[in-house]
Amino acid sequence: LNSLKEKDQALYDIVGEELARQRNGIELIASESYVSEAIMELQGSVLTNKTAEGYPGKRYHAGCHVVDKMETLGIERAKELFGAEHANIQAHSGSQANQAVYAAMLNPGDTILGMRLDQGGHLTHGSSVNFSGKMYDCVSYGLNRETEIIDYDEVEKLAKEKRPKLLIAGASAYPRLIDYERMSLIAKEVGAYFMVDMAHIAGLVAAGVIPSPVPHADFVTSTTTKTLAGARGGFILCRGEHAAKVDKGIFPGVQGSMHFHIMAAKAHTFKNAMTSEYRECMQQVVRNAQKLAQTLSQRGFRIVTGGTDNHLMLVDVRPKGLTGVQLDEALESVGITVNKNMIPFDLQKPAVTSGIRIGTTAMTIKGMKEEEAEHIGALIDEVASNIDNKAALEGIAKRVVELGSSFPLYQGYFE
Ligand code: PLP
Repeated sequence: LNSLKEKDQALYDIVGEELARQRNGIELIASESYVSEAIMELQGSVLTNKTAEGYPGKRYHAGCHVVDKMETLGIERAKELFGAEHANIQAHSGSQANQAVYAAMLNPGDTILGMRLDQGGHLTHGSSVNFSGKMYDCVSYGLNRETEIIDYDEVEKLAKEKRPKLLIAGASAYPRLIDYERMSLIAKEVGAYFMVDMAHIAGLVAAGVIPSPVPHADFVTSTTTKTLAGARGGFILCRGEHAAKVDKGIFPGVQGSMHFHIMAAKAHTFKNAMTSEYRECMQQVVRNAQKLAQTLSQRGFRIVTGGTDNHLMLVDVRPKGLTGVQLDEALESVGITVNKNMIPFDLQKPAVTSGIRIGTTAMTIKGMKEEEAEHIGALIDEVASNIDNKAALEGIAKRVVELGSSFPLYQGYFE
């Protein structure tokens, strides 16, 4: 980053400080990962200079013959990776991918049925504080109180009662597999379109570690971050019959010009996800999550649903006499990064919570395995037991740096 160093010392120092945080800490935020240097190179490439609207071969600006090749390559890779009939890779984010599908298929005021935000769903699935909740008539389904699994009977009942135009599956904080087949049958029965937002789990789907929603859904939206471990952006897959509408939903529906530098990084993300190294990494992500969940459970935490099938777990911290925010902040003070998270039927406010959400993608990309997952579980427990003991927390922080920095990240970068 020599030019940056010369031109803007303040920002250069901030990037260096963040790199040190990433190198030394233990990253357990479920939506985070470490991207490869190739992704960073593409995101910082000259492709950022090109402006265009439209699609390959049908642009509103001249000079697109090179970027057209790149976008076409990205689209073909996305289709191949996920076995999809059509792909649109222009969405600037996961939220905009969702917004584009709604813009393509719905009119303001139409009914959508999605998962409750406080039980694992995403803001864009109908929360009242989000455009989705303001623009559409949003109805939400939740979890079964006993099993903490999606209440499919409730989904069916609500679908029959409210006749939504769109049924949405997918979540930001749900540790179990989703029954896409059942959801798609419910959608079919009430004449609704079926969309799956696989933003969190797309990498596990790409690697074949968990079942794919693609054969069951009219639309599949996603980010290329999180488990896909790539560019910071979104994309949409759909059946061929919806291709023209989805493309119009993105442009001119909700976006103007596209970010070619990010799009190229998405195209590389798809290539990387086809490698055997990536598939092995995703298998390890799930093994690490299961080991960490087991360790925390053995140490007296309650794991929501009793475990996990994917990269994340929800940990009920009440058995330790704590709130989510207390443990989140204490963990941050020792260099372990998680996020406070509502547990199902939580009585605490969203800013307090009774739980934390933990994901294992980033630690696994760093090279950590079950042994480290167990070690991290023990460190989390030690923090929980020493929440007000400053000296103990300082001692734990040193051990976190030892563990975090013993798995090198971006060697040679920035030096
Ligand atoms: N969908 C789900 C399920 C998510 O968890 C997220 C992000 O956390 C998004 C969509 C939105 O992605 P973005 O933050 O890129 O808008």
